Amino acid sequence: MKLFGSSGIRGITNKEITVDLALKVGLALGSLKESAVIGRDPRIAGEMIEHALISGMVSAGCDVVRVGLVTTPTLAHAARNYDCGVMVTASHNTSEYVGIKLWNPDGMAFDSTQQEEIEEAVASGDLTGVEWNNIGNVTTDSNAVREHSEMILSNVKPIKPASLRVVLDCGCGAGGTITPDLLRGMGCDVITLNAQLDGYFPARNPEPNDANLGLLKKAVLEFDASLGIAQDGDADRMMAVDENGVFVTGDEMLAIFAGYECKAGGTLVVPVDTSMIVDDALPDSTVVRTRVGDVYVAEEIKRTRADFGGEPSGSWIFPQVSYCPDGIYAAARLIEIVQDVRLGELRDKLPQYPTKRGTVVCDNERKGSVMDMVGSEMGTLGTVTDIDGVRVEMDDGWLLVRPSGTEPKIRITAEARTGVNELYDIGERIVREALA
Ligand code: MG
Repeated sequence: MKLFGSSGIRGITNKEITVDLALKVGLALGSLKESAVIGRDPRIAGEMIEHALISGMVSAGCDVVRVGLVTTPTLAHAARNYDCGVMVTASHNTSEYVGIKLWNPDGMAFDSTQQEEIEEAVASGDLTGVEWNNIGNVTTDSNAVREHSEMILSNVKPIKPASLRVVLDCGCGAGGTITPDLLRGMGCDVITLNAQLDGYFPARNPEPNDANLGLLKKAVLEFDASLGIAQDGDADRMMAVDENGVFVTGDEMLAIFAGYECKAGGTLVVPVDTSMIVDDALPDSTVVRTRVGDVYVAEEIKRTRADFGGEPSGSWIFPQVSYCPDGIYAAARLIEIVQDVRLGELRDKLPQYPTKRGTVVCDNERKGSVMDMVGSEMGTLGTVTDIDGVRVEMDDGWLLVRPSGTEPKIRITAEARTGVNELYDIGERIVREALA
């Protein structure tokens, strides 16, 4: 039984993710681990799922420490003191979703082997509790937010007091528990939007993308701020708006952070769909590409001992602090950077290449055979990488053909210095011929 997707167990409350399932996951996890720390973001089903998980873990003999409403990076940081961490969150998904994400003490999400262990135990149906006098304890720890804040503040330089005004949009997500105080602690003049926690996410869709950040863009101009910062529902993701109220794209953000984090001759890890502006902005670094998903990026950072990695969706991983993407640390780090140079100027220095994205309908059963044909055809165009779909690199651009993980579609992405439409058309023709 497949429970875990690319970002933990996630689905609609009381349909895909039920109390019964959470109890079984808790029993399975509790039988493998002696201690766990658990937290949740503010979504409506969070506490319900948390209670079921705790009951299962304690019943299996595992001691559980509750840290309450926290961000995912706060929970992942707290996990360093326990055998594992459990976060009840559906990240950037809307209110009807809930999910469970499991963490190792080093801030790395459970890998595929660990996920399979849980899946097999849940599927086996023979999960039972321990003797009455061996059940685990449940305690509460109210220091997780403070400890996470202190860790971040010890890794960034404070700014000259009140020299920098920032508008912060927490989107009613868990970021409100830590980010406003932390940025004030750095010395920023902080104007908050939607810092009140609300699991209905009434202010905006929790995903911090260009379309959802209209209010933030306006507020940055209105308050004459140096930048705007937005987080998703559990604040592992962070995106920014520059001093002109312009949304900084994920590829631009990745190139800007990497420019500061990667040492000369260092390594940067990004997913296969990342723009070549990253390669062009960092000519002295090795750029390693992985499957799409922050867990794969984190695993590759650990394996290659990379300086930095991230995903254009807004996940930034700074391995010197954690393998968990941290939208609070990233915000603090960006503020440190823009003290010396405006964010818009950093954007302007980056090259801009046209990108074209589209999809071709393809039945799920046919995806495998179609991709085999696409792969051999694309091999004639240039250097091929096939870790996630097929990506072919040419002198003037790249083309990626990937089967969608959730829909009956094949996705095509093309980016080129010149002739992006022609490149996209080549990709589409190859896919259509394979389908014919
Ligand atoms: Mg998230």
